[in-house]
Order: sequence, then structure tokens, then C-alpha cells
Amino acid sequence: MNAAPPVLSNVENLASNGQPKLIVSTSPATGRKLGEVWAATPEDIKRIMETARLAQGPWERLGLRARLALMRGLRDAMYRNLDRIVDTVVAEQGRPRFEGMIEYWPTIELLSYYLKTARRTLAPEPVFVKLVPHRAHWVERRPHGVVLIIAPWNFPMILSLAPIFAALIAGNTVVYKPSEFASQAGEVFTQVIHEAGIPPEVFQVVHGDGDVGAALIRERPHKICFTGSVPTGRKVAALAGELLIPVTLELGGKDAAIVLEDADLDRTAAGVVWAGMVNAGQACLSIERVYVMRQVAEPLVEKMAQVINDHVRLGPGEAVYTTMGAITTEAQIRIIDSQVREAVQQGARVVCGGRIAEDKGGRFYLPTLITDTTPQMRVARDETFGPVIVVQAVDSEEEALRLANDTRYGLTGSVWTRNKARGLALARQMKVGLASVNDHVMSHSVPNVPWGGVNDSGYGRTRGKEGLLEMTTAQSLSVERLAPLPREFFWYPYSDLKYNLLRRAMHFLYGPTWRDRLRALSRNPY
Ligand code: NAD
Repeated sequence: MNAAPPVLSNVENLASNGQPKLIVSTSPATGRKLGEVWAATPEDIKRIMETARLAQGPWERLGLRARLALMRGLRDAMYRNLDRIVDTVVAEQGRPRFEGMIEYWPTIELLSYYLKTARRTLAPEPVFVKLVPHRAHWVERRPHGVVLIIAPWNFPMILSLAPIFAALIAGNTVVYKPSEFASQAGEVFTQVIHEAGIPPEVFQVVHGDGDVGAALIRERPHKICFTGSVPTGRKVAALAGELLIPVTLELGGKDAAIVLEDADLDRTAAGVVWAGMVNAGQACLSIERVYVMRQVAEPLVEKMAQVINDHVRLGPGEAVYTTMGAITTEAQIRIIDSQVREAVQQGARVVCGGRIAEDKGGRFYLPTLITDTTPQMRVARDETFGPVIVVQAVDSEEEALRLANDTRYGLTGSVWTRNKARGLALARQMKVGLASVNDHVMSHSVPNVPWGGVNDSGYGRTRGKEGLLEMTTAQSLSVERLAPLPREFFWYPYSDLKYNLLRRAMHFLYGPTWRDRLRALSRNPY
């Protein structure tokens, strides 16, 4: 009799013992079982990668017009499956229903944006090359080949589908590994993509944990788009570096908001609390640190506590009154809890929350505000990835900016002020991929802008024009304009005459003054 397969679940993730693994998905809010899938075996991985390699040529040769027609069908399929997609993501992540919908909108809008702009973005670009004016040159965008997309469990919809759309439109085949904690979402996306008529060999899903992710990389995809934590990102980049595979890395953050003394405190409190608590703080771009001018620190903290008190309701996503859902994984709630406990032991003050909500049945953490922290505390320094906001008073704009930038992360940031010019000047100095004034995460939902960080938050961009170009490589092409010359000027034989002609040309083309240039034409210029 076969031993029972090990189970990877949203509740616990058992170690591998070399057996095929079953991934069981349960709601972190209610514990309800949602479904199960088998993790890929080493043989599956080899077969899937080979299939993707073989399918890539025909998919590319299909042409952009035909691929876009299929992608238009995908938008229709997404529309038909709206409730199914949203409900699956909401149930598996234990999120409020509303938040499922606000993830769906930018996702489908991103596809619409690409449907409208991809032809322009991917159009061949002519280049005039002075060195060989008798030849035509231009740059075409070629797909990489097989793109491996490794996704995290938070925001599984936009973080999976954004690179999937771009990769498929550009002519790549896609091997997609959803997080082991979002496998049901991954299944639904796959079914919708296939329902739209994207061939099954062009888009394939592979389930599994980090071992499966690493095994997929070892099969040498032509490009990797990884979204996840910094430690995993480092491993992915190291392995990809060894195999010389280009990677886009979308990693973690410890994002800051700077609140100036002239800010509209009601709007700021509402905006900062939302941006810190949305998705129960499990957002790479959520506000985890607030640096506020001392003269308005107290009223801001009071107003933020009031917003939490008035509006944040914990509960299972299915309930309409819920505004904050569960913590998706057991490991994550332990990180949140240990950071907060440690900060309290070191002298931080909890204004509200500060503990696991044990009476809620599922895996919930109370919305938490903390003050009196020091920059050395883990809660003020490391990614918390939970509903915890640290508020620190500062005495000047410069101090706020210095503290905001004093981090190894650099994903997003915001400045809150009534003075737009002052806000923008500060926003520009934040060392982040995306900064806003009087809003924080909204740009995450604007598909036209590139998304990505600096420093430990990763490199490369998804979404926007850059996100599509990232799934391509530039191929330069060149052909003679008329009939080919018998021989090009640069070819053998070399001669004094050719050398002197070249030398005169350098003077004529690059001489800093007209005199220098005209000298090139004189009888004896040197
Ligand atoms: P994670 O790093 O644990 O896992 C991400 C994915 O990588 C999963 O699919 C996982 O199975 C896979 N994986 C794990 N080990 C691997 C390995 N050795 N090789 C290949 N793949 C491997 O991240 P998570 O816990 O799923 O997601 C949360 C993290 O993601 C947070 O740090 C968050 O800030 C970050 N994140 C970043 C962005 C962004 O756009 N910058 C967006 C969302 C989440």
C-alpha cells in the first residue's frame, strides 16, 4: 500500500519526503477546505518545460494580431468569470469581497490597456545609422522564449496575470507557478485562460512549493518573472545568475509615508490607515512606517485610531460588513506577532491592536498602531507584512526624508501635504520605484504606469509599457537600402587612403567648432 502523500496546506506546510505532494487549500478565515491539487513531480517539470519550448515558435509565428485577438477573447472570458475569479481569491486569502473586486478591476483594465497599446509598443523602430547610411536599420521586439512566472500568495490575481498578459502578448510561452498558498486561484486563472482559446501548451500551470520553483529554474526558461520575498528573490537571482537567465524581481517593501504639518489630517488618517490595512497589510506596498511632523503627530495618531475604530471590521471575506480579512499563512502571523511583541518589550507603545484576534475563529490579527519606536526595532525596520503601522514624530522634512530612505527596501512611498509642489519635491527624493502625493497605493492599480522597486525591493518592471517590453528582447536588423555594394568600406583591404578619409570624417563629424569641422575639408588639415 502506498504511504499517504504529504500535504501542503494553507494551515501547515509539511516537509517533503520525496513523495508526490498534495496541496490542500483551506480558507485562513474559516478553515473551510476549498480544494486540492497535485504538486508537479520532477518528470512533470521536465515534460512541461519541453512542451513550452516546442510550442513557443508556432505561438510567436502566429503574429501579434492573432495573439491580440486571442487576448481579447481572454478579456471576455475574464468578464464572464468575474464572480468565480473574485470569489476564489477572496475565499483562499480570507479577504473582504470588496478587496477582491478592487484587485479585479486593475487586472482587467491592464489587459484592456495592452490590447489598445501593444501594437504601438511592440512596433519596429527605425534607426538611422550614420556609419552605414546606405543600409536600413531598425529594432524589432522578439519574445524571450519560455517565460517562467513565479507568483506570491498575496494579490494573486494582478501579480500573476500582469506578467502573464505581457508574456503571452509578446509571443512567449508561459509556465506559471502560483504560490502553494494560492493554488485554487492559480487553477481558476488557468481554466479561464484556456477557456479563452489560449492553447494549453502555450500556457501551463505548475503547482508546488519552493522546490518546484527551483526545479523549474534549473530547466532553463529563457526569462523569469519572480514576485515574492527578498530572501527567496536572492535565491532565485543566484540560481538564475548561474544559468545566465534574465530575471525581473518584484520583492518586498517597508514603505513609508511622510506627513507634513500642513496635511489635511482627516484625509491623511483615512488614506494612511487604508493603505496600511488593505489586504490585512499583506501588500508589498502597504504603509508600514509613518514619519509625521511633531506638531501634528498627536492629532494624526488620534484620527488614525478613530478610523480603525470606526471602519475596520475583522471577519471572513464572505461577510459584507468585513473590511479586513485574515492572515493567509501561519508563518506570516508568527512574524507579525513576534515583531510587535519584541517592539513592546523594547519600549514601544501600542495605541490600538497589538495582538492576534483569538476570538475570531480564523487566523486574524488586530489592526495595530504603534508609536515610540526606534529605527533599530524590527517592526520599524523589517517588512512586517501585516496590519501594523508604526508612527514616528519628526522635527523636520529632512529628518522625515532621511528616515524614510534609511531602509534597504525601495518600493513605494508617499507624501501628505496641502502644498503639491512641496509634496512632489519630497516625493522625487524618496528612493522608491513609485511615489505619490496625498495617496499611497492607488498607483498600484493604474495599469499604464510601470511597477517595481529599487534596492532590495527588486529590479525590472511589470505593467505599463515597460512591463510589456520586459517580456521581449531587442533584436536589431539591418539590410541594404538598394543593391548591396560589392564591398563595404570597413572591410579588407585597409589602406592609407581609407585611413585618412576616416580621420577627416571624424574631424568633420565631431569637431567641437565649425573651424575644426571645416579643417577636415581643407587640402592638408593636420
Ligand atoms: P515567497 O518568497 O515565500 O514565495 C514566492 C514564490 O516563490 C512562491 O510561489 C514560492 O513557492 C516560490 N519559491 C519559494 N522558494 C523558491 C525557490 N527557492 N526558487 C523558486 N521559487 C521559490 O513570497 P510569499 O510569501 O509568497 O509573498 C510575500 C512576499 O512577496 C512579501 O515579501 C511581499 O512583499 C512580496 N511581494 C512583492 C510584490 C512586488 O510587486 N514587489 C508583490 C507582492 C508580494
